[in-house]
Amino acid sequence: MANEKMPIPKEMKFWMNGKLVPESEAKIDLLTNTLHYGFGVFEGIRCYKTDKGPAVFRLCDHVKRLRNSWHAMGMELAYSQEDIEKAIAELINVNNMQECYVRPLIYLSGIAFDPYACKTNLAIACWVWNGFFGDMDEDQGIRAAVSSFCRPHVNASLTKAKITGTYYNSLLARGLARKQGYHEAIMLDSCGMVSEGTGDNIFIVRNNTIYTPARKGILEGITRDSIIAIAKELGHTVIECDITREELYIADEVFMTGTAAELECVSEIDNRKIGSGRIGPVTKKLRDIFREIVHGKSAKYDKWLYYVRGA
Ligand code: PMP
Repeated sequence: MANEKMPIPKEMKFWMNGKLVPESEAKIDLLTNTLHYGFGVFEGIRCYKTDKGPAVFRLCDHVKRLRNSWHAMGMELAYSQEDIEKAIAELINVNNMQECYVRPLIYLSGIAFDPYACKTNLAIACWVWNGFFGDMDEDQGIRAAVSSFCRPHVNASLTKAKITGTYYNSLLARGLARKQGYHEAIMLDSCGMVSEGTGDNIFIVRNNTIYTPARKGILEGITRDSIIAIAKELGHTVIECDITREELYIADEVFMTGTAAELECVSEIDNRKIGSGRIGPVTKKLRDIFREIVHGKSAKYDKWLYYVRGA
């Protein structure tokens, strides 16, 4: 798992089917259905440093989505919601992490071209997180391009599930955008409406109203849900509706949300400056509040944090 950009210490422990194993021994067979056909599901979860020790942001919702992803694939899982939450807390504790990214993966062993003929496995890794967009001026935000690759049609994939195989689509779009000098790709759906980013959801702000694509064909981002709740609490109107690419260009502000991206301002799309070309007031306010929440500085939203030291 380790590579030059993401060094993982050899003594780091990973959780595999109930056992804690060192990174160097955390191996899977070459002949697995998940590697060859992409039939697996995963989650991306963040644990943040707080005054009360490390806390996982919305752990319950991430584990629910993981289990729902596998269920939507028509599969069964031997691990309960509680088993997985406990395993994640144990992994963070045993590795003595203060802040990290957590990656549960449900995968199949066996090469059969039939998921029901393969064994289901659960592995959980964690590592120190070092940014989704690399070094950047965060108030300057990112440059994005609308991708010529679109998201799969709702009947070609399962859009609510985080399926390993589906991410080839994200990586095609992101890889091309990065080669062309952008930080991120914005993807349209099969009808040509704005859908989401490659690993993040998208919002626009116009005349103080916040708009975001409806849930029907996107991954239901947990950060998206959090930002909608925070924005409504601040008195903003949030409308879930179709958005055209042109509406991106003329928005006052555009931002993207995700576990990895957190809340990132988009300052340029397809070489057009968005708003002032720097972070706007609505994006900044939401970003600052989100940061306070994940670091345990908001009593109101403390319910979203799972403190692992007490677990
Ligand atoms: N869309 C896609 C395609 C993603 O991969 C992600 C990352 N999980 C998101 C949106 C954002 O979801 P979340 O806020 O739950 O991380």
